[in-house]
Amino acid sequence: MRVVILGPPGAGKGTCAKIIGEIYGIPVITTGDMLRAAVVEMTPLGLTAKSYMDRGELVPDDLVNRLVTERLNEPDAQDGFILDGYPRSPRQAEALERILKTSGKKLNHVLHIELEDEAIIGRLSRRRSCPRCGAIFHLDNKPPRTSGKCDACDTELVQRDDDKPEVIRRRLEVYREKTRPLLDFYEKKGLIKVIRGDINLTDLPATLKRVLNSRVRTRSH
Ligand code: ADP
Repeated sequence: MRVVILGPPGAGKGTCAKIIGEIYGIPVITTGDMLRAAVVEMTPLGLTAKSYMDRGELVPDDLVNRLVTERLNEPDAQDGFILDGYPRSPRQAEALERILKTSGKKLNHVLHIELEDEAIIGRLSRRRSCPRCGAIFHLDNKPPRTSGKCDACDTELVQRDDDKPEVIRRRLEVYREKTRPLLDFYEKKGLIKVIRGDINLTDLPATLKRVLNSRVRTRSH
């Protein structure tokens, strides 16, 4: 099972990716997390990536393409994977086509998660995350048990630099300019499945199973 998840920032790609990974027992490959880890480790990639990420811009395609190519060559990704946050530009989509073609593999689904800008801004500006274990909270909808502390590891929660309002607006523009066109690219291949980004968490696993098992497209975007 090879799945790509597309959708605006804050639509819930990470949440869906995790559930799908558990359902099918396949690794979730999240370029945002990989890049943030590189930033923390201060690798050459991380040092370059940080300036783009802080502004809400895309990290250059060739850097991300290289990162993903290496990751997809690892043993655990040979029988399936979920790509969360990649591809994000036409050049990344072309690179993914080449990677898959070389190994004679195909994508099964491209899941498009839809959510309107207002909901996105509300979500991201109230989002807090744990810099240590990556757990995500929301000040209103999913507050931590102890204010400001991670439920899982007790670390002080932070707001991601790119979850500040000006940067959120830029991320949305970048999504519309660079990533949204990929919906057409995958639509033509008949791969798109659509779900709403505000489906109740309890219903999400069943909805994802239903959508990914259905052979018919649920509806076009
Ligand atoms: P979101 O989807 O909520 O914007 P991510 O964690 O996926 O958040 O991405 C955060 C930032 O990491 C992006 O704004 C971008 O700078 C960088 N990034 C992540 N994935 C990619 C990618 N595939 N190509 C280029 N930049 C990326």
